Amino acid sequence: MLEVHQFPCLSDNYGYLLHDPDSGETVCIDTPDAQAYLREAAHKEWQITQIWNTHWHPDHSGGNEAIKAATGCTVTASAVDAPRTPAVDRTVGQGDKVSIGAFDFTVIDVGGHTNGHIALHCAAADMAFVGDALFALGCGRMFEGTPDQFWASLCRLKALPPSTMLYCAHEYTASNARFALHADPDNAKLRDYAAHIDRNRAADMPTVPTTLSRELATNPFLRADDPDMQARWADRGAIVGDPVATFAALRSAKDTF
Ligand code: ZN
Ligand code: FE
Repeated sequence: MLEVHQFPCLSDNYGYLLHDPDSGETVCIDTPDAQAYLREAAHKEWQITQIWNTHWHPDHSGGNEAIKAATGCTVTASAVDAPRTPAVDRTVGQGDKVSIGAFDFTVIDVGGHTNGHIALHCAAADMAFVGDALFALGCGRMFEGTPDQFWASLCRLKALPPSTMLYCAHEYTASNARFALHADPDNAKLRDYAAHIDRNRAADMPTVPTTLSRELATNPFLRADDPDMQARWADRGAIVGDPVATFAALRSAKDTF
C-alpha cells in the first residue's frame, strides 16, 4: 500500500511525500520548501523520483528546481499552469494518468483558485491530493477562475467515492470552521466537526487529511446545491435553484469574513 508522509511547511502548508514500498518510488506532492522535503525524504531513507504540482503558486512549486537539482527527479504539472511553474518535464490535464509504481492517479481539472489547478485521485488507494482547490470546511480563494468554473471543479470532486481521503495543502480548518458555522449555523454535523477541530488544534494536531463524506455533510462550498443553503443565502446573492450563484455568494462572503 502507498504511504503518505505529512509534515508542516512554511507557515501553514502541509508537505506530502508519497511512497510506494514495492517500486521504491517517492513523489513530492507540491514543493513548498525544498530543504524540508529533502530532509524528510532523507530521514525516511526514501529516494525522491517525481514531483507532482497541483498549481503554479510559489508555496506549491517554489522548491521544484532545488529538489530536481538534488535528486534528478521529474516534474509533472498542469499544462495550463506550466508556463508559470518551474522546471516542468511533463504537462497533464483532465483525465490524464500519472503513476507511482503500480498505482495510477487520475488528473482532475479543479480550476478556479488558479485556472490550471489540478487534483490527483487514486481509486485503488482511495485518496486524492487536492492542493488549494478544496480545504477541510473551505475552498481556495478564487484568484483566476470564475464561479461557474470553480463550481464545476467542486462537482468533479463531489463525484468521487465518499470514502476518499482528501489531502489538502493548508491547515486553514479552524478559520474555515468559523465561516462555515456562520454560513450554515443549523448544521448539527458541522457543529460536532467544529468542536472536534477546536480540540485538535488546541492539542496542536493536524485536521488534515479529511474525508469527502465528512466534507459533503459540512463544507458550505460543497453544499451550494443544497436548497436550504440557497434559501438561507438568498438575501445575500444566492438564488434558489442556482448552485453557481450560491457558490459565488459564499465565496465572496468568505473573502471579507
Ligand atoms: Zn495556491
Ligand atoms: Fe497554497
